[in-house]
Amino acid sequence: MPQGTAMKVPMRAVAGTVGAMERTARRVVLVGAGHAHLYVAAHARELVAAGLEVTLVDPDRFWYSGLATGMLGGSYDAADDQVDAGRLIESRGGRFLRDRVVGLDRDRRAVTLESGGRLDFDAVSLNVGSEVSLAHVPGAEAYAWPVKPTSNLWRLRRTLEERFQEGATLRVVVAGGGASGCEVAANIEALARRRGARLELALISRSDRLLRRHPERASRQVTAELRRRRIMVSLGCAVDEATPGRVICSDGRRPEFDLLVVATGLQAPRVIASAGVSLGEKRGVLIGATLQSVDDPRVFAVGDCADLRGHPLERFGVFAVRQSPILLHNLGAVLNGGTLQEFRPQRRWLSILNLGAGRGLALWGRWSWRGRIALLLKDRIDRRFLARYKAT
Ligand SMILES: Cc1cc2nc3c(=O)[nH]c(=O)nc-3n(C[C@H](O)[C@H](O)[C@H](O)COP(=O)(O)OP(=O)(O)OC[C@H]3O[C@@H](n4cnc5c(N)ncnc54)[C@H](O)[C@@H]3O)c2cc1C
Repeated sequence: MPQGTAMKVPMRAVAGTVGAMERTARRVVLVGAGHAHLYVAAHARELVAAGLEVTLVDPDRFWYSGLATGMLGGSYDAADDQVDAGRLIESRGGRFLRDRVVGLDRDRRAVTLESGGRLDFDAVSLNVGSEVSLAHVPGAEAYAWPVKPTSNLWRLRRTLEERFQEGATLRVVVAGGGASGCEVAANIEALARRRGARLELALISRSDRLLRRHPERASRQVTAELRRRRIMVSLGCAVDEATPGRVICSDGRRPEFDLLVVATGLQAPRVIASAGVSLGEKRGVLIGATLQSVDDPRVFAVGDCADLRGHPLERFGVFAVRQSPILLHNLGAVLNGGTLQEFRPQRRWLSILNLGAGRGLALWGRWSWRGRIALLLKDRIDRRFLARYKAT
């Protein structure tokens, strides 16, 4: 087949040209059904038509974090939040393996699977997201609910609903004052209100204001909203340790909890370190603009598990979404020969926090807007994103 005949017309600047690889072995392994791999799965026919074998490996369905806090708050069901990535790729001529990748051997060009098997590749792409780092809080591993994987928020909701039924006041501590900690706290409060349950909820943040990566106006808005809803917000206070039923804070306080939720920042999953490639400052695979590892052109990484050289990016789904068409193109180009495209991150992006109770907080650069319209807009954007992949 001529080089890249079945690939889409390049949509972005040409970054370089690679020669065609051995035609006998052109297997693409997609590790993790993250945002970008959903897109590749939905377009797998293009890769298959270009003579590639495409296999997606994930132990779970795709759970969408955009709707997940609303699901926690009782606005959406679990089914609203999921995509069956296996069905998606198989309907497009690809293959799905329900398994977890536990290692990557670059010399042998193979990934190892939790089930014990091995999968050979000619090009591999990592889109495994991120996990909450619990290591710096002794005891958290045993007693806390991390906000990742996203499916945890569904399990957390079910647990909260069961505990609410017991009738006693439930004490919940949320550690972390970033966007996810604020959203999670607001939606636990919203769920309690929906179910008519009694709740004592504390949000504890190490930094001296909530949403410290955003303008101060946004911090004031979210703090006012949470306090209005009787969520106790403690600032400048880190959770140092979790013990059964109590957290120990850096300021000496020891609040009691029935449930502890940890939203203290995201890090690349452990499997990334096994890839044997250079890592960036957030411990993701260090990639260049073509989304390839700076050490190995046949190792791609996208989304939260990648660190773009020279452009530290927030852990935010929008980047994986923007990388998707470039990844699709470059996977074909690197194996069939062709020009590579470059990803250039946008400088500003819209993010909308779901604050439960029908309200959202929209953030765009220095601008922020709180209210019902913000949440309606978020609902519309998120549902539209999922609809593309749900209708296989
Ligand atoms: C509470 C909360 C709310 C958020 N809300 C938003 C929001 O509204 N908008 C937004 O843009 N971002 C939001 N984020 C950030 C967002 O979750 C991440 O930036 C986004 O999920 C990253 O997408 P991804 O494509 O990199 O990976 P993900 O979408 O997280 O997908 C990773 C996939 O990899 C799989 N996987 C993991 N390890 C392995 C392995 N070893 N082998 C095989 N498969 C594996 C997982 O099962 C998963 O399916 C939120 C985060 C949190 C914690």
